[in-house]
Amino acid sequence: MQVAAIPLAKVKDALSQRYRAREDEHVLAWHHQPRIVFSRARGVRLWDVDGREYLDFVSGHINLLLGHNHPELVQALAEQASKLWTHYKYYTTDATIDFAELLTESMPDGLDVLNFTTTGSEANEIAMRLARGATGRFDMVSVIQGLHGGTFAVESLTSIGGPRKRGLGPMLMPARANAVLAPHCYRCPINLKFPSCNIACLDVSDEMIERTTTGEVAAIFAETIMGSGGMVVPPEGWLAKLKRLARKWGALLVLDEVQVSPAKTGALWCFQQFGEQPDILTLGKGTGGGMSIGAAVTSREIAERAKETGCGVPWGSTFVGEALDAAVARKQLEILIRDNYAQRAARLGQYFMQRLNALKDRHDVVGDVRGRGMYVGVEIVTDKLTKGKNNRLMQRIRYNAIENGLLIGGSGNVLKIFPALTITEAELDEGVEILDRAIRLALDGHPLGVERFSEGSHP
Ligand code: PMP
Repeated sequence: MQVAAIPLAKVKDALSQRYRAREDEHVLAWHHQPRIVFSRARGVRLWDVDGREYLDFVSGHINLLLGHNHPELVQALAEQASKLWTHYKYYTTDATIDFAELLTESMPDGLDVLNFTTTGSEANEIAMRLARGATGRFDMVSVIQGLHGGTFAVESLTSIGGPRKRGLGPMLMPARANAVLAPHCYRCPINLKFPSCNIACLDVSDEMIERTTTGEVAAIFAETIMGSGGMVVPPEGWLAKLKRLARKWGALLVLDEVQVSPAKTGALWCFQQFGEQPDILTLGKGTGGGMSIGAAVTSREIAERAKETGCGVPWGSTFVGEALDAAVARKQLEILIRDNYAQRAARLGQYFMQRLNALKDRHDVVGDVRGRGMYVGVEIVTDKLTKGKNNRLMQRIRYNAIENGLLIGGSGNVLKIFPALTITEAELDEGVEILDRAIRLALDGHPLGVERFSEGSHP
């Protein structure tokens, strides 16, 4: 059936065009097409400079759990802004300590102390310092298809290739190996089936660690649920087996929950859903409620050992642990705990999955729908039988969704969806209907004449 497209161009976009031209003059930017210039937001809605409305299914940059401009966060921000924003980092603030205390008290024993950071990349850099310091070893092992950030050392842990690494040459951290196979059951890297496979991908990974490292492994890094590499939820038992693998090599287990925590996947801290705890947990994105604050969290023992041997911990930089960021982040965490948003995420997730699975039944190009809570991936394929990765169709769908007022993400052939936990079932329905329409438009060949869907270094 032909579906009539409603091109954005029908709505006046004079202001957007002028802003985009000005941006091209002055900013080295990284964009998806169609380009949008946002100017305001409320809850799960955003508006661009020309007044067009978008339903936000990416929650800022995967970093808002309570939606945009949540009134209690606005109040916390305003109150702190009138007291203290920033300070000399050789000292601290009451707001910074209040947040550190709430954050670590909300975690199980063994995750007792933290080093604040401004970004997720920095949190993983600090995790490397901690692991080197605590173990006296150098090799860092990570999961193939994983992403841990963009500063050079963590870029070396990242094995999502493509434009973001092209031309950079060898990364600065030579002692690293992307040696753990991804727990990607829909596309099993060794062509087996769970559960009869007994998670054999980690047996192969064990051998790969043996062959590609010195055998002196400081840490194994993994995302608890892999995000940029395709929204891959590990099967039951994978995390426990990964931890055993880390122990076998005398390595620390670092779980990167920059994308998935807190509360988003149905537990306050995502690892709690999988029954295993990391030695070091890294946080960023949503932890700050939209502010730039993350952390590397570990046990007192690991922190003390790392401190004794040097390796530059504790680490600080200009914007680490700002009072303004900490006040907002603390208020957000308080609300998430107070109103049990993890449970809400789990409940909404079940509803959303049902709706998305109905889409999967309707369209042969929807190969797999997976995720936890409000953290969901939709894999776009040539057809269900051959499972060919249909990257171009994914981009068309993403583009059409935006033209029809739904903001979703996507990389490779996987659409990425992470609504705020404040969203309602009616708003989820609205998004699914737009997504359905976007798929049908894409199958009809829309958008016509668009050759490039992204610019910049990200896949
Ligand atoms: N870890 C993961 C899992 C991420 O997805 C990202 C960013 N997308 C990072 C680390 C890096 O975070 P940041 O962009 O804040 O440096």
